[in-house]
Amino acid sequence: MKIFSIFGDPVSHSRSPLMHNYVFKSLNIKACYSRTHLSDGSRLRDVFFAKALSGANITVPHKEAAYAQCDEVRGVAKEIKAVNTLVLEKGKLIGYNTDADGFMSAIQSFGEIHNALILGAGGTARALSIALRHGEITPTILNRSRGRLDYFLCEGFECFEWDDFTVKPYDLIINTTSAGLSDNELPVPRPLLMELLEQAKGAIDVIYGKETPYLREVKISGLPYKDGSDMLLEQGVLANHLFLHGKYPIDQIKSAMTRSFSL
Ligand code: NDP
Repeated sequence: MKIFSIFGDPVSHSRSPLMHNYVFKSLNIKACYSRTHLSDGSRLRDVFFAKALSGANITVPHKEAAYAQCDEVRGVAKEIKAVNTLVLEKGKLIGYNTDADGFMSAIQSFGEIHNALILGAGGTARALSIALRHGEITPTILNRSRGRLDYFLCEGFECFEWDDFTVKPYDLIINTTSAGLSDNELPVPRPLLMELLEQAKGAIDVIYGKETPYLREVKISGLPYKDGSDMLLEQGVLANHLFLHGKYPIDQIKSAMTRSFSL
């Protein structure tokens, strides 16, 4: 029996156990997927090995810590410097980032997008900024504080704190902050959000499974919108494909995982 888990703080909201267990059951794979609440991200590697895991997903706020604790990082995660998927390979911890490709699949439905404003500067914002650049969409990053902007400045992205930001038109407004996840906050002050939405073509919140205050405002604005469910599905399919070392076709995994969303 192979064991997988998701690490995060908070982690109780995560749908990943349901999604991955449903795939394992549908494909008759002897494996199970649990949740691990971890407040100290520096213990991630030790806990992974202590639990004898074969793979894991990493959620808020440990993606950068996970990157630092891998034996090897592969693909776009090297550029992002944050990892959301860990796979054990010959006793070594291999890190990947499936958020980037998962997000790009999820925003196809918005049509032609030239630029985007990313709210937040955590691990998810890193993944999305790199993914957008690969997709020839120009990202700008807006965060409430200065601390996490260094990565984006080094990557050559336009970055602002709330205090030094002036509104311009952005095609897509993306909430990657955890505002609204377990509180009732907006990711930016309300007047600023109103101005941004007036000029946008669409909006997305990467949080899923609940209507955040941000998504509530977006709905009122009448813009096309999405929550994080499509991204969750797409990143989960790619992670599961890695967990199973590519032995099962992506389409088969996606069809099983999609069914878990109707449970
Ligand atoms: P991090 O902890 O790495 O980053 C959080 C960011 O949110 C920081 O920039 C932080 O700002 C900002 N922030 C936190 N609280 C507030 C607030 N009240 N107001 C404004 N800004 C705030 O988180 P991640 O990037 O790992 O994850 C972010 C969110 O994305 C989570 O809700 C997670 O569940 C979701 N997610 C969804 C996915 C999906 O598949 N749908 C995939 C990945 C993530 P500061 O720097 O000032 O602290």
